[in-house]
Amino acid sequence: MNDFNAEPAALRSAELVAVERVLNSGWYVLGQEVRAFEQAWAGRCGTTRAAGVGNGMDAIEIGLRALDVGPGDEVITTPMTAFATVLAIVRAGATPVLADIDPRTALLAPESVERCITSQTRAVVLVHLYGQIRDMDNWVELCARHGIALLEDCAQAHLAEWNGKVAGSFGRAGAYSFYPTKNLGAIGDGGALVSSDAALMDRVEVLRNYGQSVRYEHPELGLNSRLDELQAALLQVRLDWLDGFTRRRQEIAAGYRAGLENPLVRLLQAPGHSENHVYHLFVITCEERERLSGFLKERGVATLIHYPMPVHHQPPCRDIRRDPQGLAASEGHAGECLSLPCHPQLSDADVAHVIKAVNDFC
Ligand SMILES: *Cc1c(COP(=O)(O)O)cnc(C)c1O
Repeated sequence: MNDFNAEPAALRSAELVAVERVLNSGWYVLGQEVRAFEQAWAGRCGTTRAAGVGNGMDAIEIGLRALDVGPGDEVITTPMTAFATVLAIVRAGATPVLADIDPRTALLAPESVERCITSQTRAVVLVHLYGQIRDMDNWVELCARHGIALLEDCAQAHLAEWNGKVAGSFGRAGAYSFYPTKNLGAIGDGGALVSSDAALMDRVEVLRNYGQSVRYEHPELGLNSRLDELQAALLQVRLDWLDGFTRRRQEIAAGYRAGLENPLVRLLQAPGHSENHVYHLFVITCEERERLSGFLKERGVATLIHYPMPVHHQPPCRDIRRDPQGLAASEGHAGECLSLPCHPQLSDADVAHVIKAVNDFC
C-alpha cells in the first residue's frame, strides 16, 4: 500500500542534505527549521499561521483546547475515521458525539450532525476522509448558525481544495498529521495546526510546550507536543515533492475510475468540479469484501480496510452518544469498504494489474 524505498533518488539525496544541516546546527527541537516549515505550510494552506506539533492526534486535541473546548462540552464527529480523531476529543476532556455518514462519500452527513446538536455542543470535528473535501460553504454556515466551532481534521487531505481554498482554512483551525503514510509524511511522527486566528495560534504555541508562555512561566497546563527540527527539515524537502505526488495519486485514481468495471464493486462518488480530491486513499465498496480482498491478495494486490470497525463498536466507545436515528450508513460502509493501492510510486503497469484483478473478480 506504500513503497518508500521506491521514492526518487533525488528526494533521498535532498533529505540527506537536510539531515546533515540539522545535525550541524546543534539545535534539535522547535527552532528555525520548524519556523521555516511552519511558514511554508501556512503559505500553502492559505492561512497566516501554522504551528508544528508532535502528531495529528495532538493537533486535534490542542486545537480543541485552544478553542476552550473541554469538560462538559460535546464535540460531534464521525465514527468512520481514524480512532485518533475521537481519542483526541476525549483527551481534550470533551465528550465525543457520533453522527452518521453519507454512504456515497463516507463523509459526515450534515443532517445527522444537526440531529446530534444540543445546548452542550461546542464544536464539529470535520474529517476530510480519504482526501475528499466537500460542501464547505454548508459546513461553515451550519456551524455559524448553531454558534459552534468548526475544526477540520485534515490528516488525510493535504492541500485538498474546495472552490480553490485549501483544507484547514475553512474552520477555526485545521489539524494536519505528517505520519509517514500520509500524503505529506515525515520520517517519524509530526503534525501541525493551521489557522489565520493569531490569538488562537498564540495559545496553540503555548499549549504544545507545557503551557509555557515565556521560559519557566506556565499560564496554563499544556502538553509536550513539539515538532523537532529533523522532521521539520525533512518536511520542507518533502513539501517540494507533494504537488507531483498528489498529481500522481490523482492520475492513478482517474485510471481506476476509467478502468474498474465490475458489477460487484462500487466506487465512491466522483469529486465534484469544485473539489480537488487528493486521494490519500482510493476506496471501493463490495458486499463480498473478504472474498474480494482474498482474491486480490492471490493476484499479488495488497489492500487495506479504512475502517473495518466504526468507532462506536470499539470497546471503550460503546456508550458514546450518537445520532438518535443510529449510525447505519457507517456500519454498512465499515462492512464493505476496501482500499486499493494508491500511492505515488505505483507504475502504470501496477495500476493496470490492479484494474484487471478487480475486474476479473466474480
Ligand atoms: C492519521 C490520522 C489522524 C492521527 O494522526 P497521527 O499523526 O497518527 O496522530 C487523525 N485523523 C485522521 C483522519 C487520520 O487519518
